[in-house]
Amino acid sequence: MHQPGGRGVLEDVAAAGHAFGNHSMTHTTSPGESPGWETVQREISDMQQLLGSLAGDEKLFRPFGGGGHLGPHLFSEEAVEHLTAEQYTVALWNSVPRDWEDPDGWCERALLDIQRRPWMLLVLPDVAADAMKHLPTFLDRVLESQVEITPDLPADCVPIRRGRITGDLDPLVAHG
Ligand SMILES: [Zn+2]
Repeated sequence: MHQPGGRGVLEDVAAAGHAFGNHSMTHTTSPGESPGWETVQREISDMQQLLGSLAGDEKLFRPFGGGGHLGPHLFSEEAVEHLTAEQYTVALWNSVPRDWEDPDGWCERALLDIQRRPWMLLVLPDVAADAMKHLPTFLDRVLESQVEITPDLPADCVPIRRGRITGDLDPLVAHG
């Protein structure tokens, strides 16, 4: 959102009918690493305000994981209070093939993850040059293997849905 043209990209994404959500303001500090209301305000609330009317009917938030890791660094008690009170849906993930470390090898690892799981929520940050040149191949192979691609979020990756706690959040919350 801070880059010139960022909002235009989002407008195109929204116009094409895709869902998108809040992934923190700075992408450097998750609420669990810096508990307190200031972090919640900056990382979640201010970002949501920037998205404004572009955000869909369901407010989606995915915490910054710092390399794709799940753990108590993701949320603070204040963050959980805010996300539930403001009726967010929180999306986590279960496949991180690390495209940024291995721009050529992520595709095979992602395909293996698909075989190993009943469903997969894939994280592809797309920050390394050239990593996404494998995306068409990946998608072709997914479609060939008759895996269904759906916008629905799998229950195991959604610890909060529309403000209701639906999963085991405790391992993801820093307790001060
Ligand atoms: Zn991220």
